[in-house]
Amino acid sequence: MTVEERDDHVSATVRELRHWLAGNLPEDWQQAVRAGDGEALAAITADPARLSAWFETLGAAGWATPQWPSTWGGFDCGTDVAAAIRDELDHWAAGRPMADFVGLTLGGPTILEWGSEAQKQRYLPPLARGQERWCQLFSEPGAGSDLAALSTDATRKANGDWVVTGQKVWSSFAHESQFGLLMARTDSSAPKHHGITYFLLDMHSRGVRPRPLRQLTGEAEFNEVFLDEVQVPDSARLGPVNEGWRVALTTLMAERSGLSGRPVVGPGATDQLARRARQTGAWESPVLREKILELAVRERALQMATVRAFVQASSRQPGAEGSIRKLVHGELTEEIGLLGTELEPLGAIAWTPGARQPEATSRFLAGKTYCIAGGTSEIQRNIIGERVLGLPKDADPERDRPFADRERG
Ligand SMILES: Cc1cc2nc3c(=O)[nH]c(=O)nc-3n(C[C@H](O)[C@H](O)[C@H](O)COP(=O)(O)OP(=O)(O)OC[C@H]3O[C@@H](n4cnc5c(N)ncnc54)[C@H](O)[C@@H]3O)c2cc1C
Repeated sequence: MTVEERDDHVSATVRELRHWLAGNLPEDWQQAVRAGDGEALAAITADPARLSAWFETLGAAGWATPQWPSTWGGFDCGTDVAAAIRDELDHWAAGRPMADFVGLTLGGPTILEWGSEAQKQRYLPPLARGQERWCQLFSEPGAGSDLAALSTDATRKANGDWVVTGQKVWSSFAHESQFGLLMARTDSSAPKHHGITYFLLDMHSRGVRPRPLRQLTGEAEFNEVFLDEVQVPDSARLGPVNEGWRVALTTLMAERSGLSGRPVVGPGATDQLARRARQTGAWESPVLREKILELAVRERALQMATVRAFVQASSRQPGAEGSIRKLVHGELTEEIGLLGTELEPLGAIAWTPGARQPEATSRFLAGKTYCIAGGTSEIQRNIIGERVLGLPKDADPERDRPFADRERG
């Protein structure tokens, strides 16, 4: 397919979505978006009953999961078309929220690739229709960048089921999730990457205890999750025993690609900065203006690289090159957050009691998010060095040693 044919295909799909939205998105919702009435829109989208009815409609029609195969309710779309669909839904405030990122972007593709027919039947339809939320139970107090060093233990019982004990941390939305993507150690006599198994954990099982952690932004989206002798049926195992690392790579690649910015070329975070600079008068400063423009150029370059990557990778799984975009996106987001405080230094540190935190403050406090979540910038640099540039691997004396014999620091 030529670039022009692909563009036509993307535009045709977006036109079809607009037509579908006109006939299905409730009239007052459409009206609030057209009128730019933020208050009315906030009231509509804060109503859980209306939201869940809408997600049901969206999911049943396939628009929530366009990349999934048609047998599972999707449209078999490439990543570029799916991105255009997501963008149009965002425009109407009609897409699934960030809290569903783990389920839709990480869980769905991992279950599609590794799940049995019964697992697909059980988990995919409710995920597509927004009926069940998922969290990611990977990081532990002693295993973040070196994820394969995780020590949550899953011991097999005589009947083939499992007992899981351990602790996870930084698990976004775990306190409101029905299921968790869980990695646990099932063979500590093997080297660390070879003794892990992947499970789809029912978060309502006895012995699962999420405890929210308050973040710098004031929100508590993260959790510690304590797992105390949790009984897990073997039917919840995803992929072969002790090959959970291979399964997790599907999740991690999808995560990196999914955390690398919006795949559209157009107004972005730096345009909001420019707008704010005009309001605060900071635009009059040539130094600040130049800083905004410099970031704007980098943002557009990232957008173009993302669109290009999505077009080229539309028919395959995301690869290590996703780390390049994740790295750039993380650093750019942090710099945008920092510059925002320069445009309104006083507004960013003090605001009326009880009023909403200013946008500049929230962006600044959340600035590090994408440099850490989904693998830190240093780890992305390692991945780029090893898998894109072909440099020697990062030294790891534990790599080939049985996990049980590791040096504990
Ligand atoms: C917003 C957000 C949401 C998150 N959500 C989830 C979630 O839902 N589920 C989940 O499981 N986890 C989640 N995480 C956790 C995240 O994946 C980890 O924080 C991340 O992988 C880093 O691990 P760590 O915090 O243990 O840091 P560490 O691994 O201890 O790293 C500390 C520092 O050392 C550096 N470093 C470590 N190893 C190397 C190396 N080999 N080479 C160079 N530098 C190195 C790191 O870059 C970092 O600067 C989330 C994190 C954030 C910020």
